[in-house]
Amino acid sequence: MMQQYLETKKKCEGCLLFFRLGDFYEMFFEDALTASRELEITLTGRDCGLEERAPMCGVPYHSAETYINKLVEKGYKVAICEQVEDPKAAKGIVKREIIRIVTPGTLIDTNVLEEGKNNYLMSIYSDTNSYGIAVVDITTGEFRVTEIAGSGIQKKLMEEIAKYNPAELICNKDFTNFQSLIEEIKNRFHTFINEYNEWSFDYETAYKRLCEHFHVHHLDGLGLKEFSSGISASGALLEYLNDTQKVNLGHVVEITPYYIEEYMRLDISSRRNLELTETLREKSRKGSLLWVLDRTKTAMGARLLRKWLEQPLLDVKQIRKRLDGVEEFKNNAILREELKELLNGIYDLERLMSKVIYGTVNGRDLIALKNSISLLPHIRTLLSECSSQYQKEICNQLDTLEDIYALIDRAIIDEPPVSIREGDIIKEGYHPEVDRLRKAKREGKQWIAALESEEKEKTGIKNLKIKYNKVFGYFIEITKSNFDSVPDRYIRKQTLANAERYITPELKELEETVLGAEEKVMELEYQLFVEVREHISGEVERIQRAAKQIAVIDVLQSLGEVADKQNYVKPVVTEKDTIDIKNGRHPVVEKMMPMEQFISNDTYLDENENRLAIITGPNMAGKSTYMRQVALIVLMAQIGSFIPAESAEIGIVDRIFTRVGASDDLASGQSTFMVEMSEVANILHNATHKSLLILDEIGRGTSTFDGLSIAWAVIEYISDKSKIGAKTLFATHYHELTELEGKLSGVKNYCIDVMEKGDNIIFLRKIKRGGADHSYGIQVAKLAGLPGEVIDRAKIILSQLEEADINKPAQNITVQDPKAKKENAHPTQLDLFSTAQNEFIQDIANIDVLNMTPMDAMQKLYDMIKKA
Ligand code: ADP
Repeated sequence: MMQQYLETKKKCEGCLLFFRLGDFYEMFFEDALTASRELEITLTGRDCGLEERAPMCGVPYHSAETYINKLVEKGYKVAICEQVEDPKAAKGIVKREIIRIVTPGTLIDTNVLEEGKNNYLMSIYSDTNSYGIAVVDITTGEFRVTEIAGSGIQKKLMEEIAKYNPAELICNKDFTNFQSLIEEIKNRFHTFINEYNEWSFDYETAYKRLCEHFHVHHLDGLGLKEFSSGISASGALLEYLNDTQKVNLGHVVEITPYYIEEYMRLDISSRRNLELTETLREKSRKGSLLWVLDRTKTAMGARLLRKWLEQPLLDVKQIRKRLDGVEEFKNNAILREELKELLNGIYDLERLMSKVIYGTVNGRDLIALKNSISLLPHIRTLLSECSSQYQKEICNQLDTLEDIYALIDRAIIDEPPVSIREGDIIKEGYHPEVDRLRKAKREGKQWIAALESEEKEKTGIKNLKIKYNKVFGYFIEITKSNFDSVPDRYIRKQTLANAERYITPELKELEETVLGAEEKVMELEYQLFVEVREHISGEVERIQRAAKQIAVIDVLQSLGEVADKQNYVKPVVTEKDTIDIKNGRHPVVEKMMPMEQFISNDTYLDENENRLAIITGPNMAGKSTYMRQVALIVLMAQIGSFIPAESAEIGIVDRIFTRVGASDDLASGQSTFMVEMSEVANILHNATHKSLLILDEIGRGTSTFDGLSIAWAVIEYISDKSKIGAKTLFATHYHELTELEGKLSGVKNYCIDVMEKGDNIIFLRKIKRGGADHSYGIQVAKLAGLPGEVIDRAKIILSQLEEADINKPAQNITVQDPKAKKENAHPTQLDLFSTAQNEFIQDIANIDVLNMTPMDAMQKLYDMIKKA
């Protein structure tokens, strides 16, 4: 046995081997040490023919899933080795084989996977100047591939990874040269990364693998003609699945190639900042855009909505098609209600089909499938009332799978047990042999009952009973007081404290009929069940397609429902360069607030005079909320959702960039200012005139003048049509920047209104044209609860600072020290000379020494001394 173990172990290097021995999975040697540590289970030992006992630990087979999941979540791969022949029938050692290797990206246990979220396995092939990227979710059969190249290739790669957030990633050797990139992926996405066999990425090999899997001679027909590193990545991915899953993945029925340019690009920080699927700080779903928009009823719908959110569209036609679909559901609440009720009854068909493929499906799953299918015709009838293109298309194409319904309905009883091996699963009338055996079983039991009364009569023992247990089968039990009446023909089998157990040849004969029939029927029922399962497995493509269509309907109804309940409107989506929002609202902040308390605001941006809005206003006025609101509205429009506004025209944007607040970017290990500047650099390098930029307080992380200068230069660069010319919202504390309106084309000032009331301010939350005249920092500090003494002192300092003209060079500004006695007050100097110093230094830097006469130099020196 140990030899068999060691041979198996060789076949699964790098995995923990769960070796089936009877009712346990056992682990040995290193594996046992690791597993006992990670799972906190007892370590024992076993003789293994070596001098020392082999360390060993084990888990019971029926609860193995939990242990496997735990290990996989920690990044281990677990190879499961089963007994593949009946131990009774085996000659010598039972044959054992690895039936599956479970890895983070290939988990199929629906108990641990999040329902509304895909679990992706990604493959990356790094070529000299491109990356091929393939992703698969084996629980749903989704398989996508793309390729990236050109400038900013690593950024694009990170964006794709962020889109899928894969649990596991395999790559070729070349990719492992990018150690810092790999570290970043690990840290950011908690992805387990492993290098995989180089040969499997080889173009020819990969090409062949794909052809084999999809049963084609060429890949051109699958749309893969222009993908070469993509083919390498996908082929290796299939190879890896083949290696680990050991089943024919019949539910991966298609491969979807795409270009990243088909979707709005969202860099990692924008994805996080906009809180699309989780909040920035708590990482919770509540408070994210998904939380607002998700009213889906099915798991497939929930996953699809998330995908739509992660990949906003750029094609106006496609967006309009979605919007029309949403509109139809929004406007018809009755239809929606009926639809929701039907969708509620639809099981996760995609994941159910993966269970069918893996052979882990049971009778109850098939009944769930049947019940789900039974709703499809009703859904189609409801859709037939619809007039929008999307619904009509789906209505026409929806396969209502009646044949599959009929098969399950005929074959499987309505309330089957969990086990598929213990009978009672096949319906009466489906198979004559099952019916015959069941009859024999039933009758045999009746005969046993008859025998019992007969024996009672013959022996005169009133409490004589025929009982059954697994060890002895059927037996006659007689209590102590009646021992004298036991006839000789009874054969004694067992003595208990108060009773004796007997058998008779007649009883054993009956037993054989009953038990024989029982065993036979169980075996036959299992076979029939497998046949049904296999038939369904052959129809996987049809079922997957229906599942996808149901997902779309579910997403459209969800968006329709939200639009109706939250009072959203249909945006007019165009190719033009205008974003014109009337009374827009922030979808999440609005929902977190009591009804009607959110103040709506307009936005107007275009390609000419209104490209860049400089937004000033005190802290807490609502600047960030406003800017995010605009980004979210645009993004919602581009996924095909209605939007929180009174009306809106949205010109498609190619990318949304955000530079918002201090990003606590622990992963990159850089200082806050460095992160801020590299994000700005990214924006300046990559934004186009079609992009939407949300910039919040650029330059805040450094000294005032540095920051102001950077902000100023950034605005000049962005607003310049020959450089970028993107539509931009720019919030700032630097009031000096408001001077740019009129000087730079396309720049307009806005501020968020506040009202002064005595010593306090009231936030009006309304945006209006013009710059803010005050920062109201002290009032906001007061609202935040700073001690009165500090507030009072700050006011004094402020008024004294305001009196002094800090722009005048070399003038000392003094602030009275409140503790000093009046008569010998000693002024405290503040270091506010940086402008003067800067100018002075600038002056020196400007001196053209090489082209100066000694006289000029003397003169310059003299001038400077005078100035100082
Ligand atoms: P700023 O960026 O100007 O410091 P925020 O955008 O963070 O301000 O807004 C501060 C708070 O004001 C938000 O948390 C929100 O509760 C509230 N708020 C912002 N905008 C609005 C609005 N339009 N209507 C109602 N409340 C708002």
